Amino acid sequence: SIPLGYYGGIGAASRAGILFKGGNYLNAITKLDSIAFDKTGTLTTGQFEVASVQAATLKKEELLAIIGTAEQKSTHPIAQAIQQYVRGQHISLHSALSMQEIAGYGVETIIDGKNVLVGNPRLLLMRKTVVPSKVLESEMTVVVCAIDGVYAGAVWLADKLKEDAVQAIRHLKELGVKDIHLLSGDKQSLVEKVARELEIPQAHGDLLPEDKATYIQKLSFHATRTVAFVGDGMNDAPVLALSNVGIAMGGLGSDAAIESADVVIQTDQPSKVATAIEIGRATQCIVW
Ligand code: ADP
Ligand code: MG
Repeated sequence: SIPLGYYGGIGAASRAGILFKGGNYLNAITKLDSIAFDKTGTLTTGQFEVASVQAATLKKEELLAIIGTAEQKSTHPIAQAIQQYVRGQHISLHSALSMQEIAGYGVETIIDGKNVLVGNPRLLLMRKTVVPSKVLESEMTVVVCAIDGVYAGAVWLADKLKEDAVQAIRHLKELGVKDIHLLSGDKQSLVEKVARELEIPQAHGDLLPEDKATYIQKLSFHATRTVAFVGDGMNDAPVLALSNVGIAMGGLGSDAAIESADVVIQTDQPSKVATAIEIGRATQCIVW
């Protein structure tokens, strides 16, 4: 049975826009040994903007038509930004066959009988397509395109930190949660840059969704450790389910993520993680 104090705690949390799915999580969150954050959509807004486009083999407009077509059914924040940009340029799309999302990589489709890959450089490298080294080394999020196995161009996108991201991490440290990790499918150099800006001690990029799960399993290897994962839900549902306290961003998050999470932050603010810990601690004072 749940001590009465927990009902008060759950109510207080809910008024702060934090939904606890049970009193046990209100208790667990006060005992965190480690916390891992997803980057895109969790600590950054996930609202990417296209910064530049470079076409290798075709006209820029034609490249954008192909990339826009490939991304038209994807709900990934990168895809959404590309769709918006292509619409803004009044570029008309092609019709596509068999669009397939490849989690952690990008999308694959067939346009005018040609195989089209759109995603991160890892996707093209996996398919043995050469990506120019200048593209591989860029410090921004980059989406590349291959047509019938040949590199066709790239789109660079920028994302911003959420307003409260710096404070969110600082506050956790003040509360004694110092083992903080940043996990992302984005490239390592960019993930390290974001971690430096946020003063997060551990940064891991180039992770597939299953790599994030393995990472969390390693963190919680000792049964006595309590590990939280905070994600926005894009491919994160399994990781949320696996951590002791799975925390999802409710606004941006997918239904699957909200379902798998133990705690849902309805306002999408990462600083609410510290608020949740404070409410948990205050609640325990009432219980005792
Ligand atoms: P993150 O860990 O940054 O939240 P995801 O696991 O959702 O990211 O995706 C990892 C990477 O896969 C993204 O950074 C992006 O490079 C690539 N990716 C995934 N889906 C798409 C897509 N629809 N279009 C382009 N790139 C994608
Ligand atoms: Mg994400």
